[in-house]
Amino acid sequence: MAYDSTNIFARILRGEIPCKKAFEDDHVLAFHDIHPQAPTHILVIPKGAYVSAADFGATASDAEIAAFTRAVARIAAEAGVEGSGYRLISNHGPDSHQEVPHYHVHILGGRPLGRLVTPL
Ligand code: AMP
Repeated sequence: MAYDSTNIFARILRGEIPCKKAFEDDHVLAFHDIHPQAPTHILVIPKGAYVSAADFGATASDAEIAAFTRAVARIAAEAGVEGSGYRLISNHGPDSHQEVPHYHVHILGGRPLGRLVTPL
């Protein structure tokens, strides 16, 4: 799947629409989800143009991957959910219901989150 540079997270990265920023460095931007599903719901995105986890894992540089992974842990700790626990979610493709085609990880916490997925 080709990267669509009109997606909403690309527009946030270009400063065309605002976000409630939680963290930023050379490789990573994090901001609060506009429709939070938990008291803590932060989206972490790479600044590079990657469609999803599959694209990022296959084509991002080692520096980007290291920076992203370290940022996710740091942002969760700074949000205060490391002790109580949190869930990382990254949707890829139609079955996952990925809505925004720019790689992102959801950090969810601040309440008991229940089971990972709805049982069959
Ligand atoms: P996904 O289904 O994994 O692609 O999740 C996309 C997420 O982006 C959803 O949780 C949306 O609520 C969130 N979202 C969409 N637009 C914005 C926005 N402008 N600012 C913050 N979060 C957004």
